[in-house]
Amino acid sequence: MIIEPKVREYICTTAHPAGCGESVRRQAEAAAAMGEVSGPKNILVIGCSTGYGLASRISALVNLKAATLGIMFERPASGKRTATAGWYNTAAFEKMAQDRGIYAKSINGDAFSREIKEKTIEMIRRDLGAADMVVYSLAAPRRTDENGVTWSSCLKTTGEPCTEKSLDLRSGQIVEKTIMPATEEEIQGTVKVMGGEDWCGWIDALKEAGVLAPGAVTVAYSYIGPKLTYPIYYHGTIGAAKQHLHSCAKLLNEKYPGLRAYISVNKGLVTQASAAIPIVPLYFSILYRIMKEEGTHEGCIQQISRLFTRKLFPEGGRPLADENGFIRMDDLEMRPEVQEKVLKAWAAVNTGNIAEYCDVEGYWEDFYHMFGFRYDNVDYSADVNPDVPVPSLISQD
Ligand code: NAD
Repeated sequence: MIIEPKVREYICTTAHPAGCGESVRRQAEAAAAMGEVSGPKNILVIGCSTGYGLASRISALVNLKAATLGIMFERPASGKRTATAGWYNTAAFEKMAQDRGIYAKSINGDAFSREIKEKTIEMIRRDLGAADMVVYSLAAPRRTDENGVTWSSCLKTTGEPCTEKSLDLRSGQIVEKTIMPATEEEIQGTVKVMGGEDWCGWIDALKEAGVLAPGAVTVAYSYIGPKLTYPIYYHGTIGAAKQHLHSCAKLLNEKYPGLRAYISVNKGLVTQASAAIPIVPLYFSILYRIMKEEGTHEGCIQQISRLFTRKLFPEGGRPLADENGFIRMDDLEMRPEVQEKVLKAWAAVNTGNIAEYCDVEGYWEDFYHMFGFRYDNVDYSADVNPDVPVPSLISQD
């Protein structure tokens, strides 16, 4: 069939298999430019199919030559419905690993569940013996915990309502948006879903089963951002969850001497998860413009291959973490010169001058690329079979 993008609000409901393959190929090429380093060899990536998790898996393959076991929550094609982008990305990734003779298997199911943790343990034990690195890169709207309670995350402020400029991506207008504060229950729900409880649950389960190698490394991804976005991000419900995640790194380091748990504070980027956050797209599109102008813009793969090759496993050195165990991959985004320019642009931008201050085109390019569309070397008029298998796939049921 001919597959076209179908965009609804901040999501695209179709994905293109050849385009997703191209996205994985380009990311591998970008990672290769950072060279190879020695580091972990058996890596578990929880949330491996899109965004920062996919970039981690690609960097693990290309920069570390590591075997990867990936956990994801994706949907295969059925009838006229295409598979999700994460499904096609994973199919392309596995093929690439296979071509290079490096182990890559994937489990599709709910990472929050006991069942998927057990399946993962079984596979690590059988195929790898032990994992020497665990990347935690989940972004999910809800979680059913091991007691059967379902929690939902939300993107709201806390304390006072927050009114700010926002970019209406559909109409291309600058509007004002008011975000109402979350209730205590909503904050708690977001912390349960996006905080560190499940990260700790994974490490506990792997440790208990004896499938985490001595001296293993684990890293979870976070975002802090500038004061400008604090009301919606860092001081919002998601920020509360991230602060909980940060405290879990400390907890894990205390609980398991020998394990090294890190928080990588990454750059703000368009991904399926971040496209849903109000106000943030305007910040991103201003930031993209400024960082592209000064030649410092990075995408997920540039961020993660820099993290792996220069910060976590620098040749001959120790991980470059601060005293809190944070690795600041947002170093370029947070430079005072960049943030001063962001503030000036933020104050000046209106519907009439968007093009002057925002990289809206760059935002949409990243958005379409996430679903495998708008690559200049992919023939979108070609008839493609949407039914693409993920060779190794193990599913929840
Ligand atoms: P994403 O939506 O691109 O990826 C989420 C991944 O989680 C996918 O692989 C998806 O399949 C998987 N997933 C979701 N629910 C699952 C479930 N129940 N079971 C198994 N897998 C599941 O998101 P992203 O933006 O790459 O976010 C990953 C992490 O990086 C998050 O912790 C996020 O907060 C953090 N981060 C994101 C940004 C940003 O700007 N995008 C910046 C810094 C940090």
